Amino acid sequence: MLSSLLFKESPVEKINYRNTSFWLKRDDLIHPIFNGNKARKLKYFLDADLSAYTKIASYGGHQSNAMFSLAGLASIKGLDFEYYVKPLPETLKKNPIGNLKKSLELGMQLIELENYAEFFAARSEKSNVNSEKETLWIRQGGAEKEAEPGVKELAQEIEKFADNQGIKDLSVFLPSGTGTTALYLQKHLSFPVCTTACIGANTYLEHQFSLLEKNKACYPQILNTQKKYHFGKLYPEFLEVWRDFHEETNVEFELLYDPKMLLIFKEILQNRKGNFLYIHSGGTPGNESMLARYNYEKKSLTL
Ligand SMILES: *Cc1c(COP(=O)(O)O)cnc(C)c1O
Repeated sequence: MLSSLLFKESPVEKINYRNTSFWLKRDDLIHPIFNGNKARKLKYFLDADLSAYTKIASYGGHQSNAMFSLAGLASIKGLDFEYYVKPLPETLKKNPIGNLKKSLELGMQLIELENYAEFFAARSEKSNVNSEKETLWIRQGGAEKEAEPGVKELAQEIEKFADNQGIKDLSVFLPSGTGTTALYLQKHLSFPVCTTACIGANTYLEHQFSLLEKNKACYPQILNTQKKYHFGKLYPEFLEVWRDFHEETNVEFELLYDPKMLLIFKEILQNRKGNFLYIHSGGTPGNESMLARYNYEKKSLTL
């Protein structure tokens, strides 16, 4: 299988943080292009026979981590990759950076469309029609049932780690976008999974869980910050907690999803005893564009 050539089991490192420590599952180290939770979620497609298809198509944000991983998947599988986005800012079109730049380098064809979500939904419904057969449509963020087997392996690696270390109590943390990773992880893990909703409210996240799994017993626990945050917006405390973990641990976390979870994780580390495992879900190639935005808005954010 292709994945066994490309993937190695990701290491779990013991990380010292201030006067305490935690475990870090380094899914960011799975593979230089194809890593993090997107690698877990797309693993099924990596091993699947896609010879009936000539291209992969998806849609979403123009700096999305999923976009870069899909570009990687398509290039590994020798397929074209079409990605639908809302019209791009002119400056970015002239000077692509971050995930956009890296995805274009992998051969991604970008299609700008005002109503891409509606367009995509209409095309997906037609996907059983013969003429559409050659396109493999993957929903935004890879929120597909096919994500389950790859995330199940993540759960098995964590179980094995805990077993080897003789750890009986472990709480696992990771931030959620669509919630696909956290949900399938909790479904296959005996330890509690804690997450936080980065996109939308808790009700949005619970709804996403329900689309993938009816049994509420395997929903992860959703933790909250005191303040409400909007997805993709810049917050001084996000940059601060990201820098704090970077400096204290020497590990670069991700700047779009991780900060909200790290704010909660930091509180827990400083106030509770126990074994805590944070999953590094990759996505650091996107930090370049996030840092550029933080830099650009430095004055208005008083960083
Ligand atoms: C995509 C992504 C997430 C969100 O994953 P979901 O399965 O959609 O919840 C979290 N963290 C990082 C770094 C990501 O790239």
